[in-house]
This record gives sequence, structure tokens and C-alpha cells, in this order.
Amino acid sequence: MIACLERFVPENEVESREAVEASVMCKTLDLQGTIESPAAADRDFGGLYSRRPLAVIRPSGADDVARVIAASLSTTLTVAARGNGHSINGQAMVDRGLIINMRSTENNHFKLRKINDSTYVDVSGGALWEDVLKRCVEEYGMAPRSWTDYLGLTVGGTLSNAGVSGQTFRYGPQTANIAELEVVTGRGEVVICSEKKNSELFFSVLGGLGQFGIITRARVLVQSAPDMVRWIRVVYSEFDEFTRDAEFLVTRQSGGESFDYVEGFVFVNSDDPVNGWPSVSLNPNQRFDSAHLPGNSDSVLYCLELALHYNNSDKPSAVDTVVKRFLGQLGFIKKLKFQVDLSYVDFLLRVKRAEEQAKANGNWESPHPWLNMFVAKADIKEFDEEIFKKILTNGVGGPMLIYPLLRSKWDNRTSEVIPNEDIFYIIALLRFTSPAPSGLEVDKLVSQNRQIVDHCSRNRFDYKLYMPNYKTQEEWKEHFGGKWERFVQMKACYDPMAILAPGQKIFGRMRNSSCNS
Ligand code: FAD
Repeated sequence: MIACLERFVPENEVESREAVEASVMCKTLDLQGTIESPAAADRDFGGLYSRRPLAVIRPSGADDVARVIAASLSTTLTVAARGNGHSINGQAMVDRGLIINMRSTENNHFKLRKINDSTYVDVSGGALWEDVLKRCVEEYGMAPRSWTDYLGLTVGGTLSNAGVSGQTFRYGPQTANIAELEVVTGRGEVVICSEKKNSELFFSVLGGLGQFGIITRARVLVQSAPDMVRWIRVVYSEFDEFTRDAEFLVTRQSGGESFDYVEGFVFVNSDDPVNGWPSVSLNPNQRFDSAHLPGNSDSVLYCLELALHYNNSDKPSAVDTVVKRFLGQLGFIKKLKFQVDLSYVDFLLRVKRAEEQAKANGNWESPHPWLNMFVAKADIKEFDEEIFKKILTNGVGGPMLIYPLLRSKWDNRTSEVIPNEDIFYIIALLRFTSPAPSGLEVDKLVSQNRQIVDHCSRNRFDYKLYMPNYKTQEEWKEHFGGKWERFVQMKACYDPMAILAPGQKIFGRMRNSSCNS
């Protein structure tokens, strides 16, 4: 193992204190896993920052993770779990510390479990959700209830944030669909936790930005997977009508009286192929005919994106009837409706096709200065007026998502922070830049994000950043608000040396072991 490490620690760094510590430490560990090049983890999807770790460890399981953390306690090293590195602002990076690449554990644990009246699947914290989907459907005909839009993300990575998509209005975020976790804490201890057992750790870890432990296994609630999905998009020119219908759909959920998936997005009122009308239709045969738009339409338009699950045994006419009934209650522009039928798995993997396209164009690898936030219903109209209609009139080179979520579906005991209002919106500005953007161009987009957040702060919006990125503890304190004190207490309890996830920039590494249990 040490031979591997020496090969990967850059020569000019071998003499540094941390490099020596890392090398001595790894020499004494009898890991089952392997070591890979630091270059494998010095970037993330955001492409805005680069930090070179001293080594990247590919653990074989929780025991390896525990050994690395326990050994790091007596050094000055920090340790970050890396899921699939899809963070934007270096959250899964370490500067001169150790990365634990959780993907090496992706096949561990997979097993269906029936407990009382519920069914769960045990999965590794390093598994990609797309693999969880495929295995669950293929092997058991079951599937998790709550998803993210894109499934090339790890279980541990999304559970450290929340995990949000068009099913969240009904089932809550992914974190609300977990019955049990296996976690390696910042003390190097492997702990099983749940609502009933070690519950403080369980709830702290969910949405905990990797601060309390590394998730090595999650028990995820599953349900019967449908065969098919009718995927529908309907267009609005008026923001008020768009939000009224979106809120109607997410609040009307008893007795299956709504769609199974509700999202929405803003697009530019132009023929721009990326940001405008052509981005709306669901297949190449469906053309967006702008002649149907009212003459007084503004610079941006709105689209509700809906999906209804059904099975191959359902009569097509019955599916048509339900869809017609649900859509009949909505006030969209009747001639601007698009729909397609596809398998449930293909629907959930829909963003993978966009990924393949972006990879072919070269803009998957280019920087992504994304901004994700939650904004309360009370402030959403002004957000539209001031941000979408004035600042983002030309789009962001990718989707501008906006759809309502319900506070009641989030568990207040987790570390997640959301606005106070019952209904709040997720806003996701998923910026794509050209393959070789100038630094200036990227800086401009980052400062536009800042301008948007500043506007929300100045005007006292009830908002929270999702996948937050702050640099000072004062900012973090404000972000967590009433949950900050507990967050600090739990950190002292489960990661007293502040070894874990330094890329979040919440706590500085403690230099001595004055902090005892
Ligand atoms: P990483 O970026 O590798 O890690 C994120 C943080 O979690 C780091 O601090 C890391 O140290 C920590 N971490 C990683 N693994 C573990 C673990 N096992 N235990 C403890 N801590 C860990 N989010 C949504 O909610 N909904 C979406 O629809 C959605 N779509 C996305 C689409 C794309 C194309 C991208 C790039 C991101 C999207 N995200 C979405 C955001 C995503 O949830 C975050 O990027 C998240 O961090 C997951 O990415 P990851 O698995 O690559 O984790």
C-alpha cells in the first residue's frame, strides 16, 4: 500500500508534514481496498475549483473507511467521502487530505428486506441511484419512491443533501424515505442508526453535508414499480396561472387524485434551441408552434411537467380518461401540450440522454456554475418578476427549474433547512457553458448567481440555498438558523476533530484531541 501512496504523492509534496503523515498512516493500515491517483478526485462537476488530495482510497467497505478515519485522528489530515463528485463548489474535495472514493463499494449490501408491512432495499452509500433503479426493477419489480432528476449520483451524496425531484411533493425528499443507515462516524466507529436506534446520529446525517459520518449503507423504502409513464408538458404564459395549477396539483393528493410527478420550468420566449421553445417538446415529431402563444406574452414562459404511472395491464382508454380528467382542471394554453409514453425506467433515466448529448458536445466537462435554492411561496412572484423576467431573460444555457414542495413532507428532525412557509419552491439554475469558456465568462455567471442571492437577502425573502456554499461560520450559522446549535453539538459528538468533509468549509480541523467523548 505504501508503495502505491509514494507513487501518487507528488514529489515536491513528499516532504510536507501532511504527506509524511499520510504515508506513515497508510503504511500501518491493513486495508482491503486499493489506492488510486489523487488526480481522480481533484475536480468536480462544477469545474470551478480544483484541490489535489494526498491520496484517494477505494475502500472495500465500512471496515476500511473506519480504519482510515480512526488512523487520521492522530494526524492533522482531513478526510472526505466522494460520491460521484457531482458537487458544484468543491464540497467533496480535500486540500492535502484523503479522499475516500465510495464508488468502490457500490455493489455492497444490495438486498430486499420485508419488515412488518413495508419493503426496503439495502444499498451501499457508494451506489449510483441509476444502478439501484435497474437492480430493484429487474430483480424485484420494486423501486424507491422518491428520486432525483438525474440518477448518476450516489446514495450517500444525495442523502447528505436531501434528494429532490417531481415525487418530493408526495413522498418527501429521499432523506424522508430511509429507515436505517450504517455510518462510520468521525470517531472511526461503525454505527447502525435509525429513528429508534442512535436517532440523533440518524437525523443529523440525513441532510448533514457529510459532517457527522460516512454513509456506508442505507435502507431505502421501496414500492411496486409501474411498467409505464405518460410524460406530459403543458405551457403557460402567465406566472400566476402556472403557480396556481402547480400548487393545486401538489396539494391535491389524497386518493390518487393527482399526477405521480409534478415539476416545472421557465423557458425563454424565443426560438433559441437551448433556452427557448424547442426545449419544450418531448419528441422530435412534436413542434412547438409559437402562433398559439397569446400576443401579450412576456420574455419568459412556463411549463408544467407531469407524469402519470400506469401498468401494461391498464386499458389505454382508462389512462387517457384519467389524464384528461386531471388536465381538464388546469388552465394551460390548450394547444401547447406535449406528451409521450415510455417505460418507467426510461422515464427515470431521461436525464442520462441529456448527459450523453452534453458529453458529445463537450459541455458536460466544462464549468457548471449552478445555483439551487428553496424560496417560500410568499416570495415566488417577486422572484419571477425580478430574477426570471429581468436578470435571466436569455436563459442559463440549460434548464431553469421551478416547482412547489410541501414543508409537511420534510422531517424537521434532519439537518436539512428549508423555508418556513408550508409551500415553497425549488429553483434550480442548471447552467451549461460552452466547451472552452473564458474564465471571465464563468466569473460573470458566478457573480450573476451572487446577484440573485443578494437580491433575495436584501429583500428579506424566506429562502435557503440547497447544496449551500458558504465560506464563513457566520454565514453557516445564519443558514442553519435554529438548527445551528444542534448541528455544532452533533459535530462535537460524532466528529470532534472535524476530520470529515472539509470541502463544505463549515468547521476547521482540530489540531489536538482536547475534545473527548
Ligand atoms: P459528491 O458530490 O461526491 O459529495 C457531496 C457531499 O456529500 C460531499 O460533502 C461529500 O463529502 C459527501 N458525501 C459523499 N458521499 C457520502 C457518503 N457516502 N456519506 C457521507 N457523505 C458523503 N440533486 C437533487 O436533489 N435533485 C436533482 O434532481 C439533482 N440533479 C442533479 C443533476 C446533475 C447533473 C448534478 C451534477 C447534480 C444534481 N443534483 C441533484 C445534486 C446532487 O444531489 C449533489 O451533487 C450531491 O452532492 C450528489 O452528488 P454525488 O453523489 O456526486 O456526491
